[in-house]
Amino acid sequence: MNEATMTDLSERLSSPFDPTADPLWLMIDDEFTPTREHEFEALFSVANGYLGSRGSLPFGTSLSAPMVFIAGVFDIVPPSTLPELVAAPGWTLLSQATGANRLATESLALLGHRRMLDMRQGIFRREFRFSDKEGRVIHVRFLRLASLADRHILLQSSLCTAETYSGPLAIRSGFVQSPGSATQTFSSSTTCRESPSGPVQILAGRTHAGTTIALAVAARLNAATASEHAPRINISSTAGAMDNVMQMEVEAGKAYQYDWLEACHTSRDNPYPEQAAVAQLERLLAEGVTPAIRRHVEAWARRWQAADVEIEGDVEAQRAIRFACYHLISAVNPADERVSIGARGLSGSGYKGHVFWDTEIFLLPFYTLTDPPCARALLMYRFHTLAAARDKARRLGYTGALYAWESADSGEDVTPPYAITPVGEVLPVVTGLQAHHISADIAYAVWQYWQATGDDDFLCNAGAEILVETARFWAGRGEIEGDGRYHIRKVIGPDEYHDEVDDNAYTNWMAQWNLDCACTTVGMMKERWPQPWRDLAGRIGFDDRELERWRSVSAAMYTGMDAERNLIEQFQGYFELEDIDPAQYAPRSLPLDIILGRERTRRSKLVKQADVVMLLHLFGERIPPAMLEASFRYYEPRTEHGSSLSPAMHALIAAQIGDMDMALRYFRQAREIDLADNMGNASGGVHMAALGGLWQALVFGFAGLRTNETGLALRPNCPPAWRVVRLKLLWRGRQLALRIGPVQLEIELLNGTSIPVTVGNAPAVLLDAGRTSRWEWTDGTWKELASEYR
Ligand code: BGC
Ligand code: BGC
Repeated sequence: MNEATMTDLSERLSSPFDPTADPLWLMIDDEFTPTREHEFEALFSVANGYLGSRGSLPFGTSLSAPMVFIAGVFDIVPPSTLPELVAAPGWTLLSQATGANRLATESLALLGHRRMLDMRQGIFRREFRFSDKEGRVIHVRFLRLASLADRHILLQSSLCTAETYSGPLAIRSGFVQSPGSATQTFSSSTTCRESPSGPVQILAGRTHAGTTIALAVAARLNAATASEHAPRINISSTAGAMDNVMQMEVEAGKAYQYDWLEACHTSRDNPYPEQAAVAQLERLLAEGVTPAIRRHVEAWARRWQAADVEIEGDVEAQRAIRFACYHLISAVNPADERVSIGARGLSGSGYKGHVFWDTEIFLLPFYTLTDPPCARALLMYRFHTLAAARDKARRLGYTGALYAWESADSGEDVTPPYAITPVGEVLPVVTGLQAHHISADIAYAVWQYWQATGDDDFLCNAGAEILVETARFWAGRGEIEGDGRYHIRKVIGPDEYHDEVDDNAYTNWMAQWNLDCACTTVGMMKERWPQPWRDLAGRIGFDDRELERWRSVSAAMYTGMDAERNLIEQFQGYFELEDIDPAQYAPRSLPLDIILGRERTRRSKLVKQADVVMLLHLFGERIPPAMLEASFRYYEPRTEHGSSLSPAMHALIAAQIGDMDMALRYFRQAREIDLADNMGNASGGVHMAALGGLWQALVFGFAGLRTNETGLALRPNCPPAWRVVRLKLLWRGRQLALRIGPVQLEIELLNGTSIPVTVGNAPAVLLDAGRTSRWEWTDGTWKELASEYR
């Protein structure tokens, strides 16, 4: 049976792992490399935005870090005073014992191993063959998923064949305490309860150091009854124990299936999490697993229908872009507007699960253009944390709203005050106090979302307030000084090697944009939605004189544009700093800022990550092309890419200016952050912003897309080796399909009313539903060929 249509669990399990069946949808690893296990576990995570579970080993073993994260479940673990995402008890234990021998990877002879992430269906599979001390050969296949259709359901199944012996086999299943500090304060106990359909194991837990969130998991170890080899179940569970044991007598050569089913609720989503979990498990048991899997697979298919990107002619790039989309889809839950996405999603404990500007600037475009309800939920998280942002501004002596640099559950700033470098140096962290661009980053995403969706309800009831409060912050943050220019002093821009700088160009451009956009919003609301505007203005005490101030501040903004050099200066005084050629220090195993030390780095032109280059991306249309290219060429060789956010943005701009070799080199560097662990920290979770950046490099770089509220524009630059790139986008209720090749382009409006589309320098064409507009690159420009109707 075809993988894509097969929904029956036992068929899935018993079908061979065929890596050739659907190679462009599979991530496969055949080696078992204990030293890289932690890193692989993050890459092979299954998640659904509600919870995430790493691709850990099912046997309890020291090699593995089987962490489970539930979005929004944070706790404070003394001596730290800052919340971190709790590593909840794991559900992935399913270990076997032959007689007295517990089968554990450490003590077994491994005869074969393969793990496979089926990105199309959101299913993780693993297969082992091993022999125990007595030479008994066992073959086990596992399958694991976190349902995308019903986000509270988790499922893990195994099919076990004792190839060479008959006799007792014990299966241990249950909860494992996740490693990691947050579990120290997470108290939990398990009980076994009779339910109408048999015994149910219940784990009840509670955070209690800084928050009190109750967690309940109801679980059942089920021997698959449909199988002709249904084992005799004899479950023993010691009171309070975390796991239970199923004894069976197995016959050599026969396969036995057992499923571990879980339903999980917390007091964040239900006042009675235990009842909710039990009831949900009961429903699952009554209905059977097969329909639940079918719904999960269908939910993935729906998401891929809108989000898939196909790249013909480059297998590695194809797999990498799907890997990016897979984790982006996995990280978000449109039903919860009180959570956002941490820097590592739900796949690891890196950055303690905290939310950064990564979400708005690196991830949001993907959601906005492929799944707007997800983008809306993420922006609503910022709306619900606006009070904390106002507080932060007030505490630091500013007006309006200054968002947390690192945000967790309440929106309070949770940036740690210091960090320890790889060489053991303790350094103060100033981002929480100085990385003010975050407020404009959020405003930018609000507007981008509204432009692309036309979600007026969101703009009136949430977005406008964010835009106004962030504009207020900028209007009070700096001053018009003696030179008649508005200066914003003592900030840290995206390049964190230079703190306490004056007039960081990225920050100032974003601030100026934020002020202009708020003026536009106020004007538009007065005209189109006068009553909602009056309500909002009354609630936040808005005075029309503020508009005057915003306009004059924006007009006077210092932008760092240096016409003489034809460059944008990253901040005042940057051009006078020491020029250090990173190539001089190659090869090296440590980042250059560590080798040079903080002070020397600060006094140099070395840049941590895309900063002016970030600005070139967000404001490309406003910058003369020659200055854009010159600025990119200036900063690119001075950038260390000390952050995973950087390479994809360089791929994006390199593609826009048509330097395809460089664009492809950075595209590769960006995808290898996770897939080749090229920063050495993938074990802390996948790098969400790098994955979102990869998607943006493709869509805004190679495809050259620009959107605003009136239509779309494209300036494709497709690498010669990519025969065609196919992708779909949602824009204001319409779906478009793009097919882009090195010299051809097709744009099809799949549904919705007509829209204007601009390609290259040609005048806009009006695209009607069912029409495909075809273009060809000839004589250095894009020319439209005859268009066709479906
Ligand atoms: C990051 C900062 C962050 C700090 C503390 C650094 O590595 O670059 O943005 O605030 O860690 O988490
Ligand atoms: C980067 C920040 C980023 C953070 C979380 C840091 O290394 O410098 O820009 O927000 O990582 O991904």
